[in-house]
Amino acid sequence: MFLYKKSAIVNATQMLQISSLYQWQEKPIDAILEGLDVFVSAPTSSGKSALFQLPAVAEEGLTLTIVLSPLRALQEDQVNSLRKKGIAAELLNSDLSSQARRQVLEKLPHSMLLYLAPEQLLCSDLQNELSQCTVARVVLDEAHILPQVEANFRKAYQKIGDFIQSLPSRPQVLALTATATVKDRKRIVKALGMENSKTFAFPLRRDNLALHIKRIEEKSTSRKKSGARLNLSQSVERALKDWNGKGRVIIYCPTVKGVKHLYHWLKGRNWPVTKYTGKMSHKKRLESQERFLSGKRVIVIATNAFGLGIDISNVRLIIHAGLPLSMDGYVQEIGRAGRDGKKSLCLLLYSKQDFGKNQHILRHSLNSKSAQQAFDRLNALHRLVNAESCIWSGIEKYFGQKNFTPCNNCSHCKSKSLKSQT
Ligand SMILES: [Zn+2]
Repeated sequence: MFLYKKSAIVNATQMLQISSLYQWQEKPIDAILEGLDVFVSAPTSSGKSALFQLPAVAEEGLTLTIVLSPLRALQEDQVNSLRKKGIAAELLNSDLSSQARRQVLEKLPHSMLLYLAPEQLLCSDLQNELSQCTVARVVLDEAHILPQVEANFRKAYQKIGDFIQSLPSRPQVLALTATATVKDRKRIVKALGMENSKTFAFPLRRDNLALHIKRIEEKSTSRKKSGARLNLSQSVERALKDWNGKGRVIIYCPTVKGVKHLYHWLKGRNWPVTKYTGKMSHKKRLESQERFLSGKRVIVIATNAFGLGIDISNVRLIIHAGLPLSMDGYVQEIGRAGRDGKKSLCLLLYSKQDFGKNQHILRHSLNSKSAQQAFDRLNALHRLVNAESCIWSGIEKYFGQKNFTPCNNCSHCKSKSLKSQT
């Protein structure tokens, strides 16, 4: 276990420009400084990075902290911000030239933090170099991804546990996420070999987010499919008209086809829209993202490929145009609204047919090993939209939290109070 000098902690706090810790961070940080493995589930943008950056910097370059993170954008943001503060942070990815890669590897014995995607752990040059370093801890950021990735998609996630075991001395292991069910938490703990870890799960509920769920009725028409689509597009437009025009808007569709259709429809009606899907080229996605980030009133229409790693504080409206594929995805996505604490609206529009459509998508895109888990996540969302009880309470129940007091602000709570008045 590393023995911290008090002056090193004070110095690290200053270097990281942390004026004071949030109250919720104190207990996890104490456990981390004690050397324990720690699992933290806390809302997005609540300051989870400080939990591992603080000990990493306090160790003054004598040890290395490896941060595994799924997206390059996330890694780049953090590394740039650390470097600006004069902290020795490195980034390793497959974009680097072989010369640049060698330079990063050579610097590792004197670096404080190394950011990379789990896929990099399989590279032998990195493994060789790490045998020369004292790896104090391995951090898995966005840990909820581990149980969600299929066996044949991002296989490297399944190998993180072996990597930890392979290090000459066992590092401290930290897993951080905004959303993990009790079952997922157990899966992560097992996969990373964190059986003796301490868990800190903080409330998911955010009072500034009003959650609305609205079922769209099918229009009786001979061309049912196009009728349903038109109805959905019109409902989205109605929500945009009701929106006061301030802040940014994200519209999520469950499929690429849905994104394309809604994009053309809204564009044709002069809404300032851009689109983003995993099927677009890297360049086009970047352009779209930049337009969204720089534009004043740009609305992005996207699949779930959009948003992870983008830290925007003023998303005021999130519309789900169609039922998302999982409860976990829905909660991750609404978590991108109102990060500045200001009031924001999350509207989920769905029709009766969506559940069957999503089942069809899952059946055709997953192998049997991961299908059951995916169906469970979809079923949970199906139950949530059909329930009459508070939406926040339903979410909290799913994630194993114990606060079941109604929020009095979601569409379910509001329709209940309307019914009791009449
Ligand atoms: Zn409620």
